[in-house]
Amino acid sequence: MKDVFCKIIDGELESKKFYEDEFVLGIMDANPDSPGHALIIPKNHFEDIMKMDMEMLARIYKVSKKIATKMMEVYPNIDGVIQVVNYGKPQIIKHYHMHLIPTYEKEVNLSQDEACELLKK
Ligand SMILES: [Zn+2]
Repeated sequence: MKDVFCKIIDGELESKKFYEDEFVLGIMDANPDSPGHALIIPKNHFEDIMKMDMEMLARIYKVSKKIATKMMEVYPNIDGVIQVVNYGKPQIIKHYHMHLIPTYEKEVNLSQDEACELLKK
């Protein structure tokens, strides 16, 4: 059975996309841990980080670095970004994905739609 990210990549499910190239997709997390929480996902199906080749990991890191830099520039009151990749039991969706979870110096009012627009600019 297809996982939720493969369905998004195949256009069978809606998502809030802010980045896309030949190999990598950037979408907003549907259940954010903090405002503006985003995901970086390879378009090819890799179950987890251990199944990925270094070339694909490099592509993911290149995009995540770019997006984290962008978050620091455009998200209001941001003071950092946690970059997390879960593996094994903590990994809920078995299609590799990197979380970019912003932290803030004070509470912000930022919807996932607004955050998505800021990242697209
Ligand atoms: Zn998949």
